[in-house]
Amino acid sequence: MRKLKSKFVLSLLGLGLIFTSCSNEDTAELTEQQPQAAISQDVLDKISGHVLNANFVERTSFELPNGETQEGFMIEGDIFMSETQVEGLDDVRENDITTEQYRTNNLVSQPRTLTVTGWTGGGGFALTQNMRTGLQFAINNYNRLNLNINFVLSFNTNIDADIVVFRQPNNSGAGGSAGFPSGGDPNRFVQIFTGLDNADPNVNEHVTGHEIGHSIGFRHTDFFSRQSCGQNVNEGDGGVGAVHIPGTPTGFDPTSIMLACFSFGTDGEFNANDITAMEFLY
Ligand SMILES: [Zn+2]
Repeated sequence: MRKLKSKFVLSLLGLGLIFTSCSNEDTAELTEQQPQAAISQDVLDKISGHVLNANFVERTSFELPNGETQEGFMIEGDIFMSETQVEGLDDVRENDITTEQYRTNNLVSQPRTLTVTGWTGGGGFALTQNMRTGLQFAINNYNRLNLNINFVLSFNTNIDADIVVFRQPNNSGAGGSAGFPSGGDPNRFVQIFTGLDNADPNVNEHVTGHEIGHSIGFRHTDFFSRQSCGQNVNEGDGGVGAVHIPGTPTGFDPTSIMLACFSFGTDGEFNANDITAMEFLY
């Protein structure tokens, strides 16, 4: 795990390590881990059956800019799912899924124009200037691809936008968090942690682009190993219905924007395989 010191994990899991030298009581409290036993085997089975790495599941909650609190599970470090969403995974499994069903349940309906809010409100939830620039870069990257979904970005306090990107003042980690689509809609809330306040726009471009990738249905390209985090973790009994996207590598892809971890040297751009995957699905 020492190797992680040179990498910044897009995750609360990684934050646990970072926080060992952090004296901020608020953030320490936020990342306090409940015993793994508190998560039922049924939940873990559903998660692993959905091609996610059940070795990395935590109970978690976070605050929204409107004061509401979201509770659920953090999976693979930065993928948030509510209990209801995890329960919904059952449907996928019980149907003995085909590739098409699986993707349908996890993608945004298309064609579609998605509204994106870069949050400007109070309470510490407003994106910093570098975060705003990074978000703009990330949106430009997606729109440049000519996908069947496109994004219209505004900086405002519209919490009903399809995707709402905000700074999470209660998490000092260097990364962010998002979730997966459901019911044909993208994941709405994308958190960017305060460790990126002063990170340059390319780093913010990477993290925001990565979290929007989750929000429209992309998983970690190294979910099977977490090699980007300096780890080598087997997926356990996962892999049921794993959908490999034609034309992309089955092994480790060191420059994908959808790796579980990233470095501050990132240029924030999609690599050729990321583009292949996005154009295939959208
Ligand atoms: Zn991620």
